[in-house]
Amino acid sequence: MLHPLQTQHNKTMPPPPPPPAKTQPERVEETLSSTPPNEAVAGIDPLTGLPKRGNKRAFASEDPIEALLTRNEHWSSSVSKKYPELFPSLASTQKPQILWFGCSDSRVPETTILNLLPGEVFVHRNIANCLPPNDLSSLSVLQYAVEVLQVKHIIVCGHYGCGGVAAACAQNKLGLLDVWLKNIRDVRAKHMPELENIKNQELRVRRLVELHTKEQVHNVLHNANVIDAMKERGLKVHGFVYDVANGKIRKLEVPDDHSTEIYDLNSDKPLH
Ligand SMILES: [Zn+2]
Repeated sequence: MLHPLQTQHNKTMPPPPPPPAKTQPERVEETLSSTPPNEAVAGIDPLTGLPKRGNKRAFASEDPIEALLTRNEHWSSSVSKKYPELFPSLASTQKPQILWFGCSDSRVPETTILNLLPGEVFVHRNIANCLPPNDLSSLSVLQYAVEVLQVKHIIVCGHYGCGGVAAACAQNKLGLLDVWLKNIRDVRAKHMPELENIKNQELRVRRLVELHTKEQVHNVLHNANVIDAMKERGLKVHGFVYDVANGKIRKLEVPDDHSTEIYDLNSDKPLH
């Protein structure tokens, strides 16, 4: 049975055309490189705060918002040229197979680091990729992705160099943020002996990034909808860690905590 949101969507939209050919590996960078290379202009770009890139056209305007719009125009033209079916197919539906939970950090843009196109990943990001079981925003995303979109994989991705995790390792009062960062402090407290044995501060924070990400994977695994989907259609949940210093993703080993039966709300097992 279709979800109400899906039904309404389908009533107003024509059936989707066949998906575009999967030729992502070549991808968008090639089309953007149609701009002549080696146009690098010395100095810092006022829009990004980073060294200027070799794309004069994108930064033709002094107005940063105009520059963004110009960049978008260039990008949409390039993608349309390379994948003519893509935008027409996305106009009527989305069928992502991946749900991504990541950090809001600007250095961890999932679509870019996974080399994907629009429509290929459903996303929720917040500070330090926290997925507490009482957060309505991430829970809503999770429910929609699992029940309606029927994603096949859920990825929780932490990252080295995470400012949220580093802040949770320090003892500074940050106001409202402290409420959110308590999610990480709880993980820190739970693994205090292991973390205190790591004398190097940077290595300790990196280890907490991994432990925190694994804990969020368990939070996802404790969701009753996720448990149902894993049993009924083989949904899989993964933990990743991304290194902002080299652009590489590593898969984390997340041991089973053997607690599924506690969170499984469709089990016929009697209470002990
Ligand atoms: Zn972060």
